[in-house]
Amino acid sequence: MKKVGFVYDYIFLKHEMPAGHPESSQRLVHIVDTLRNSDVWDKLIHLKPRRAGEEDIVAVHTKSYFDMVKEFTGYFDPDTYISGNSFEAAMYAAGAVIEAIDKCKRGEVERAFCAVRPPGHHAEADRAMGFCIFNNVAVGARYAQKLGYRKVFIVDFDVHHGNGTQHMFEEDDTVFYFSTHQYPHYPGTGKDTERGKGKGEGSTYNIPMSNGVGDKDYIYAYRDILPGLIKNFRPDIVLVSAGYDIHVHDPLSGIRVTGEGLKNILRGILLRSTTTYMPYLPYVFALEGGYDLHALGESVLCTLNELMAD
Ligand SMILES: [Zn+2]
Repeated sequence: MKKVGFVYDYIFLKHEMPAGHPESSQRLVHIVDTLRNSDVWDKLIHLKPRRAGEEDIVAVHTKSYFDMVKEFTGYFDPDTYISGNSFEAAMYAAGAVIEAIDKCKRGEVERAFCAVRPPGHHAEADRAMGFCIFNNVAVGARYAQKLGYRKVFIVDFDVHHGNGTQHMFEEDDTVFYFSTHQYPHYPGTGKDTERGKGKGEGSTYNIPMSNGVGDKDYIYAYRDILPGLIKNFRPDIVLVSAGYDIHVHDPLSGIRVTGEGLKNILRGILLRSTTTYMPYLPYVFALEGGYDLHALGESVLCTLNELMAD
């Protein structure tokens, strides 16, 4: 069994949303309840997030945006609300990914899941967007490189395209960004012709999915395409933007992935179904979307089971 870290703290519940907002603290409450009621809970290595440093955030965001968020409350855009405690929650959400990477580097865990909010992958260098304040996975990618993980492969299976993450690394050939997402859909980016720019050309890979597609198309992407990309890139660590709004029951989107489909996606990411298996490659997952509470809890449980499997 793999040593799997689970990074969580109640501070993530203090990022408070207006009533009826889909990205509510109940998402994390439900995930933790589901895990506690399963045999997975006692097998996890429970970790607390650290608070990211300003230098960690400004490695991918502008200093002026960082300073602005610190003082801001209210709607940043029509979707993205920033409450009094949101800045602190966002600092710890990014810090959770940092902590998980650190624990991998020290060998205390082999893989980790960060149950965080606010989510991150829509956040651009200079603005909050789509429920996201700081780009947790992007902050993690730069931190990982500081620790000596030279090449970082990011997989983003959230139903929405991770515009922020793509833009932050599109000119960088040391960070690969792979995304599957419903298209056309929010935020509007993620065409298959977007392949990176300049030095980074070829290290962005988008697979747009039509409204209504399900397991078959996703299994093809994750079993037949992704492993070859990971193998060719030869990363030192894999970071995953884990968005469970691909689930057939999710209210925000039209992709129809089932529990069985998710299992196959995860096995593709972990390279379990191929001859390219790299057992010592560290993996850090960070929660992005997922808005049907029952599906979300079951999906995270499924993820942890797959991460623990050898
Ligand atoms: Zn999403």
